[in-house]
Amino acid sequence: MKEYDFLIVGSGLYGAVFAREMTNLGKKCIVIDKRSHTGGNIYCENTEGINIHKYGPHIFHTNDKKIWDYVNSYVEFNNFIYSPLANYKESLYNLPFNMNTFYQLWNIKSPVEVAEKIKNQVEIAGCIKPSNLEEQAINMVGKDIYEILIKGYTEKQWGRKAIDLPTFIIKRLPVRLTFDNNYFTDKYQGIPIGGYNKLIEGLLAGIEVRTGVDFFKDRYELSKLANRIVYTGKLDEFYNYKFGYLEYRSLRFEHEYMNIPNYQGVSVINFTEKTIPYTRIIEHKHFEFGKQTGTVITKEYPQEWKPGLEAYYPINDVNNTNRFGQYNELAKSERHVIFGGRLAEYKYYDMHQVIAAALTKVKTIKDTF
Ligand code: FAD
Repeated sequence: MKEYDFLIVGSGLYGAVFAREMTNLGKKCIVIDKRSHTGGNIYCENTEGINIHKYGPHIFHTNDKKIWDYVNSYVEFNNFIYSPLANYKESLYNLPFNMNTFYQLWNIKSPVEVAEKIKNQVEIAGCIKPSNLEEQAINMVGKDIYEILIKGYTEKQWGRKAIDLPTFIIKRLPVRLTFDNNYFTDKYQGIPIGGYNKLIEGLLAGIEVRTGVDFFKDRYELSKLANRIVYTGKLDEFYNYKFGYLEYRSLRFEHEYMNIPNYQGVSVINFTEKTIPYTRIIEHKHFEFGKQTGTVITKEYPQEWKPGLEAYYPINDVNNTNRFGQYNELAKSERHVIFGGRLAEYKYYDMHQVIAAALTKVKTIKDTF
């Protein structure tokens, strides 16, 4: 008989939700994380009373009332609405593409005229069968929006020319013919009051947690602690990279404290020019309507991932998808290990989706007790 029912590797949302639910069902859980803090990528660092989204700006949004009620049972959310701006050659444009953007671009107030203008641009471009991201984007929104708001940003984000990127990266480019700057269309949206750490603290309350513990530094001893392991780290690392690396896009963040109350008046501005090396500037206090005397801004620089850097966005191209398939075959044959979360599933998950995935997994396993 082992000391714990579950050893949970990773205290991000997946691990924290899994641990909470199993604990509620009377199972004994221990959570470890190699970082010095819990929360995974939603962790916030507090500077001068401002919650800094250390691993990139996070806005909670969902259409699922159950998930919304679930997170609100641990922390109350504010009524923040994500309405970022784009900066191109010193002019500002509203996002997502909507009537405000089109007015700023073309000085057109009529939705009918906007639709006509986009249609004309798409027809002139004449890309019937788009074979790369550039053609795909122009095919959906026309040349102006593509050149000013998409091209530079996307090329920086992925570190490749748009003509060398696959079409699937831009699956959808919603064009909204209303004056509506709300980025998300979901019914529920907000930021935890007091920051995301409150959500994680609520989920992990009363559960044994050890930070600064890397599973692979003591794999054998740690595995002996529990009947089953829930692994939320990188899948290729679990198998010692035997089929090669699963590739990611990485990010670098430059934080700066400023002794002024308000730097840019909005939480996020995207910089869509290729010549500006960062993709966006985040001003964290606006997520929580902060009234502090100072402010913190973060410049986000995309970078090529290499071993040792944080893995942010999976690159779901053919090679990586095939490699993931090889690892996943091994994972499926494990009897005592459950793989979940963005790294173990090599998948981009929004927060509400990763919570839903953990809840579903608990439900499935519960039925096997
Ligand atoms: P993680 O949060 O990465 O947690 C995994 C944990 O496992 C980490 O703490 C890690 O340290 C630990 N770990 C890994 N290996 C080991 C090991 N060997 N030993 C011990 N511990 C280990 N979602 C939204 O809904 N809205 C947003 O606005 C949004 N913005 C985002 C912005 C960026 C830049 C990124 C990259 C993602 C964003 N997301 C957003 C997605 C969100 O971050 C994820 O859905 C969520 O963090 C996934 O949780 P997770 O538990 O799967 O992974």
